[in-house]
Amino acid sequence: MCDCSTTEAEMTLATSACTDRDRPTVTQQEAACSASNQYHDCKEDITTDTADNLQQQESSHLLQRHLDQLPLHQAGCWHRNGGACAITEEKDDDIDGMFDGKLDFMAMPGRALDKAEEIARRVWLAGWTVVHHQHLPKWLRDNDFLIKGHRPPLNSFYACFKSIFRIHTETGNIWTHLLGFVAFIAIATYFLTRPTLEVQWQEKAVFSAFFVGAILCLGFSFTFHTVFCHSERIGRFFNKLDYCGIALLTMGSFVPWLYYSFYCRTEPKIAYMALIFILGTISIVVSMWDKFAEPKYRPLRAGVFIALGLSGVIPAMHYVITEGFYQAVNYAALGWLVLMAILYIVGAIIYAVRIPERIWPGKFDIWFQSHQIFHVFVVAAAFVHFHGISKIATYRLSFGDCIPETEVD
Ligand SMILES: [Zn+2]
Repeated sequence: MCDCSTTEAEMTLATSACTDRDRPTVTQQEAACSASNQYHDCKEDITTDTADNLQQQESSHLLQRHLDQLPLHQAGCWHRNGGACAITEEKDDDIDGMFDGKLDFMAMPGRALDKAEEIARRVWLAGWTVVHHQHLPKWLRDNDFLIKGHRPPLNSFYACFKSIFRIHTETGNIWTHLLGFVAFIAIATYFLTRPTLEVQWQEKAVFSAFFVGAILCLGFSFTFHTVFCHSERIGRFFNKLDYCGIALLTMGSFVPWLYYSFYCRTEPKIAYMALIFILGTISIVVSMWDKFAEPKYRPLRAGVFIALGLSGVIPAMHYVITEGFYQAVNYAALGWLVLMAILYIVGAIIYAVRIPERIWPGKFDIWFQSHQIFHVFVVAAAFVHFHGISKIATYRLSFGDCIPETEVD
């Protein structure tokens, strides 16, 4: 069906393409737009956070004045793409149509309007503007200590991924895990492409469990933070993937550590691998629960993943008791494991209590908010773990094959 609801100029141009049957009447459009409330919502969002940026402020005021001059059906339907001013690039061509010879017909009275059109066009091309927490729909309200600089619902994956390069409350969250994601892909590629003489296939297989966990965790996380403002359904789906990623990273981290720590002891190695697999699977199942992502369950989420990581205390204690503390510190990288655990736990606590923005609301809207600090701690912990398991593997492999128990006796 023809789309004839944007501008008067466009409607004139489109006459040959659209039949009267296709085109809704002005009265119908007005009724639809008024009913949707988009016009008022959009105006409000456009003008909400203008204090952040003077240029944006000027543009927004002029845009608003221009919108006020337009008939309601044009102004409202201009924003019909998203619930809150989500305007896609495909509008670019439509707008350009307003600047061709047709406008000359309007002559002098249109000059001031031209200026407003140009500014409106620039704002249009920018696509959207950040909004105040109060103006977010309920499903986008996660952290009420972050006051300004939120993305509105964008309703487009293209717009979401473009927002990676703009400044808003999620910019830091996206980049911290995007850079970690790229770094671990590079490390994994380097490690797995070493010649067999240098790194055996068994080592590659065992380390792959960790690489897969780290890459999926960081990849799911940066994708979630990029697209969660798309729509409620998409946001919820990627939120679950984000939580799954944390469980997968924890499970993947255990594999090489258990493999090398209990290198010659098959039973505990298999038992502990089965334990982390079961606990990780339970965490993933719990993450699938719709309510798990709600803000009020933030401490529960932190608790579930801290508990999953802390289950590593059991095999660690087993190792210390059977091999001795000296051995554990020097040959099982216990120090690095403890450092990793501290980073994860401190990061999860910062995430749960939302400090510093809880103490200074509105001061960490863009940078250094608790979630970014948590992200940095996760990446740091993953690097520490990689270093730790590399040391254990180097030590264990320098010992050669396991001595059969009968010979030990
Ligand atoms: Zn995150």
